[in-house]
This record gives sequence, structure tokens and C-alpha cells, in this order.
Amino acid sequence: MALLEMMAEVGATGGIGVLRCGTSLADVVAALGPAEDLGGLDEPRQGSHRFSCGDVEFIVCRCRLVSTISISTWHDSPLALPSPESHAVVSFPSRMTFQQVTSALDAIGCRWWLDTRVPDTQRTVLTEPSAGTWSSFTFSTTDGGDGPVLDDPRLYKVNAWDVAHECATVPEPLPHVG
Ligand SMILES: [Zn+2]
Repeated sequence: MALLEMMAEVGATGGIGVLRCGTSLADVVAALGPAEDLGGLDEPRQGSHRFSCGDVEFIVCRCRLVSTISISTWHDSPLALPSPESHAVVSFPSRMTFQQVTSALDAIGCRWWLDTRVPDTQRTVLTEPSAGTWSSFTFSTTDGGDGPVLDDPRLYKVNAWDVAHECATVPEPLPHVG
């Protein structure tokens, strides 16, 4: 799957392949292998853990379901993403633009709109993959903090998050998984 198709999938489903909001950590690990554990979160998300798989960072709530996904694309080094077909981590050039990403969303009929609450130096595209799940694509209108203004804003981060899920009140300890 091409990079822009994977970005469109984040907009349409809240993730890439199995690695999307609402999937259990067990299913992610079964498909992609052990994820790197980046440590537990503090209050108010005590019991949640941060993981990474390539350049995809994700948080698993204390019921061990994926609750947020984030992909940083501001750097110029290759972007490592888990292929939805092969489950191998594949490298892509990290540079993507507003026109490219919104065209990819349009190509699969994924409805999107602009977040009007962001500063002038930013353009943010929102989608709602399902009731209670949101995705966002944040673009910078300049190349670097004080670089030249870009005709076609550059993608610098992708997020998906679950707003509907509430964890059970009793936290369960998260076993070491990778
Ligand atoms: Zn939970």
C-alpha cells in the first residue's frame, strides 16, 4: 500500500491496518510482533502505556485497547510504518503536502473538513472515522518554524484518538509485552 493510501486509511479508519483505535494490544502484537514499550503514563491516565511500532506511537488504555495513535512526519528522515498487508515495517519518504493528503482522502470518499480554530501558520484537517473516533492531519504553512511560506502546506503530524471509550474503574496491571 502506498504512503498516501495509508494516510487516507488513518482518516477513514482511525489507524493503519490492525494498528488503529479500539484494537486490543494482544491483536496488535499478534499481527505486528512485540511493540516497544515506552513506559506508563501519569495521572489522569495512570495504567495507560505508550508504545511504538516504527514511527507510529500509540497509547493503550488500562483495558489494553489502543486509544490514541500519533505519527510525526516533520523530520526529513524516512518514515517507518507497518504495512497493513505484510505487517513488516516499511520506510517511506516523509514529506507529504496538504494537496496530496486531501486528494488521497477524496479518492476513497473519506469526508474531511478544516479545523477553523488553529493559528494561521497551521492547517488542520479533521475526519471522523466512526462515532467516537477522530483523526487529524496537521500541516505547517511554513517550512520550519520561521522558514519560507509554502504554497502547499507540509504535513507534520497525524493523530487518531478515541473519545467514546471509558475504562473500567478497576485498573488492571499491564504485563510486559515487548
Ligand atoms: Zn480502557
